[in-house]
Amino acid sequence: MGDLLNIIALAFLGSIAGLIGGAIFLFRADWGRKLSSMALPLATGVLLAVSFLDLLPEAVDQLDTGAFSVVLVVFILLFLIERFLFHLHHHTTEDEVEPKTAIPLVIFGDTIHNFLDGVAIAAAFMVSPPLGLTVALATFLHETPHEIADFGILLSAGFKPSKAFLTNFYSALATFPGALLTFFFSQKIEGSVGVLLSVAAGLFLYVAATDFLPETKMESEKSSVKNVSFLILGVILIILMRAILPHTG
Ligand SMILES: [Zn+2]
Repeated sequence: MGDLLNIIALAFLGSIAGLIGGAIFLFRADWGRKLSSMALPLATGVLLAVSFLDLLPEAVDQLDTGAFSVVLVVFILLFLIERFLFHLHHHTTEDEVEPKTAIPLVIFGDTIHNFLDGVAIAAAFMVSPPLGLTVALATFLHETPHEIADFGILLSAGFKPSKAFLTNFYSALATFPGALLTFFFSQKIEGSVGVLLSVAAGLFLYVAATDFLPETKMESEKSSVKNVSFLILGVILIILMRAILPHTG
């Protein structure tokens, strides 16, 4: 029972708390943009460090080098899903990009992503509670800029702020079934935690490499220094968490 409550609390930290950044954007778009410009490189560093220092070593412990095959498959699957959805969208709108028709796909893709965040949090928790906390924090940090971007997309498509908030709120709820299903099934299926940790690593690496790194624009020397500093800060944050809370089960 205690484990279950902890997993629900961590899913809450990763999903609902991440909406706060988006809510700030609704009230003060300039603050939201500022927050996003710091959170993007910070989250990139956190995602890379969590994947390479925590998730992958744990997954290799359980699956041996097979873990890397799972990461590869997940990475390519996520790429195909994104391209396929984008492709679909292109077909329905001919050559003109029509934001409104893309909105359901954006929300759908987000909801799958949020579900997988829940899988990542619970799989990490099954290794050890501190690792679960670290992954929940990594989710919180990458969801903040994600949600800010989502609110921007929904508002520019003509959503009222309240509708934009509720839409992202419902999508964020997908983290809970992701976490709970992982919690229940990983106890029943032998060796599943190793696979799920590899899925989490594939997801985090994909988000960092294709979504966040290209967004971390180096417009001026000043912004480059700032971006690199926040990225390194994200890596240091994870190293510090590992030092304070031992992550191995
Ligand atoms: Zn996420």
